[in-house]
Amino acid sequence: MTDAIINWISGPVLRAKASKSFKINEAVLVGDKKLLGEVIRLDRDEVVVQVYEDTTGLRPGNPLQGTNSELSVRLGPGLLGNIYDGLLRPLDTQGRYVETGFDQKRGDRTYPFTPNVKVGDVVRPGAVIGTVQRDDSRSQRALIPPNMEGEIVEMAESGCFTETQVVCVLKDAQGDLHEISLSHRWPVRKPRPVRARIPVEGPLFTGQRILDSVFPLACGGRAAMPGGFGTGKTVLQETLAKWCDADVIIYVGCGERGNEMAGVLHEFPQLEDPLTGRPLMERTVIIANTSNMPVAAREASIYTAVTVGEYFRDQGMRVALMADSTSRWAEALREVSGRLGELPSEAGYPAYISSRLADFYERAAHVTNLNGQKGSLSIIGAVSPPSADFSEPVTTHTKRYTRCFWALDASRAQARFYPAIHPLLSYSQDVDVLADFWNQQGNPQWSEQRRRFLTLIEEQSRLERMARIVGKDALPPRQQHILLCAELINESFLRQSAFSPIDRFCSPAKQIAMMRVIINFIDLSGPAVAEGVSVERINDLPVMRRIRRMGEEISEEQLDQFKELMRNMEAEFTHLNEGVINNAR
Ligand code: ADP
Repeated sequence: MTDAIINWISGPVLRAKASKSFKINEAVLVGDKKLLGEVIRLDRDEVVVQVYEDTTGLRPGNPLQGTNSELSVRLGPGLLGNIYDGLLRPLDTQGRYVETGFDQKRGDRTYPFTPNVKVGDVVRPGAVIGTVQRDDSRSQRALIPPNMEGEIVEMAESGCFTETQVVCVLKDAQGDLHEISLSHRWPVRKPRPVRARIPVEGPLFTGQRILDSVFPLACGGRAAMPGGFGTGKTVLQETLAKWCDADVIIYVGCGERGNEMAGVLHEFPQLEDPLTGRPLMERTVIIANTSNMPVAAREASIYTAVTVGEYFRDQGMRVALMADSTSRWAEALREVSGRLGELPSEAGYPAYISSRLADFYERAAHVTNLNGQKGSLSIIGAVSPPSADFSEPVTTHTKRYTRCFWALDASRAQARFYPAIHPLLSYSQDVDVLADFWNQQGNPQWSEQRRRFLTLIEEQSRLERMARIVGKDALPPRQQHILLCAELINESFLRQSAFSPIDRFCSPAKQIAMMRVIINFIDLSGPAVAEGVSVERINDLPVMRRIRRMGEEISEEQLDQFKELMRNMEAEFTHLNEGVINNAR
């Protein structure tokens, strides 16, 4: 049946004369090949559609068919561990579309299901009706879709089911019957409902010192990671995907260069989850839209990703979503808007770019979900501003909707100082609520220590400007001391190699110990300088080398060595001070 006839095509966008009524965001099937598209504008009897597949070969006169439902994706136990395109169609590890056989595999695979409800029970939207055991031992919950409720009139016994086999039949208030399976479809542009958004409780712990101890992100929070080309966005996103303490990771590679995405696709399936020793892919869903895939699919991919994230959140899990990069997504939006002939706003982006970014980031939250459990979805979006100009529209609008801003700095990256997050350009608005976490970990002084670190770095930047004019040696000892302390904070605390087996992940206990060592150094060296010890002599103390390399040299199993380091430091300073006193006599 034909619901409309195409009369105009421009790349991924087309117009068609409709013979039935369509809805905005309705999914449509285009041409004889039934390419997937979505209605984005209605103009009297004309529909405007963006097509998510290659439109080569399509021509005016071809048919278009409505589906009566919004663009949606199937959410179920088979999602974890796989790689998909922007519309959740499976890809292989090379990023190639997989033939229907693979799709079938997701469809044919069975999962052991154990129900926890029975016939006669009345279930509310989002209720848990049983558990699904996966062979990787990650159990999941089967949910009633958020838009359905009623009395159970049929319920399957424990057994193995595919994602689409019926396990339960529900009778709603009108007496209509609904078949429920282990999976259900949900429209990607519609946030999944929750019972309540609740205050954040703790951080999304990442094992990266500059994040956890200086610019922490709350679990259920939103962070932006802007940075020019080569500043380490991809490495940082991958590091977070590997090490953060979420239950599920959604990684969306959005229009990055094909070869970069190939790296992720190749590397991820081989990585081990450092916390459990199992393959990292078991807790990961990768959504890949390289720049050679159709532009409209790129636009949809971040909504698909966030919908998948919300689905796991609704199972009571902690979910972290990494998007790399939202600038490529915004470019897709710009391209489609351009083809529609819309009036461009700043830098050619459509006027609604800001509200679209808001729609995306607003879906991050710490919630009580419909079935009463707590769950969270944190979003970390990389932004790649052209010429590293943070005043361009995507960066500025993203800044409005995120609470953490991790600015990657080109000069730090050039000096191979990684992660290249600039401490003076970055911020976190979650600091106050997360002080309690550090308190529980045994560091009630965290806020104060953090403030001292940032103050010293701030003073360093002012003094360095001055030193460039008068020369470093001309600075008074107290100021030279500030420079030494700030350099130590940068070198031994903020710097952290993603590739060092010992340093790539830093536990809360190690972060606390390292912070204490540096604070202790500041407290011992300050008075020594005031007593007349030269900054060079302090810098020559044997313990300095050990402090500079403590991240790299002291492993998580040897945290006792920090005590020894503290003792050595105190002994060396006592010795130094005695020398000064003796000299004075
Ligand atoms: P971007 O995505 O911003 O273009 P990449 O993430 O690809 O940049 O990083 C470029 C290079 O910088 C990497 O290939 C790597 O050598 C180096 N690099 C980035 N981050 C780190 C890090 N945390 N530790 C060590 N090296 C890093």
